[in-house]
Amino acid sequence: MQKRFCSCGHPVLVSYTWLGRGASRVHAAFYALQRREGGRIGVCPVCGKRLDIDQLK
Ligand SMILES: [Zn+2]
Repeated sequence: MQKRFCSCGHPVLVSYTWLGRGASRVHAAFYALQRREGGRIGVCPVCGKRLDIDQLK
């Protein structure tokens, strides 16, 4: 798990899964820092922006 930040500044947790031996084949799953809702999230809970690993800080 790594802590990253949405472009709005809200922190999210990112879990990486390597899909193959190539380092470029990585799947990222996002989780809310506060797990009130439990489990994965697809958009930022604050600004509603779709979470994209390439756009997180
Ligand atoms: Zn956000």
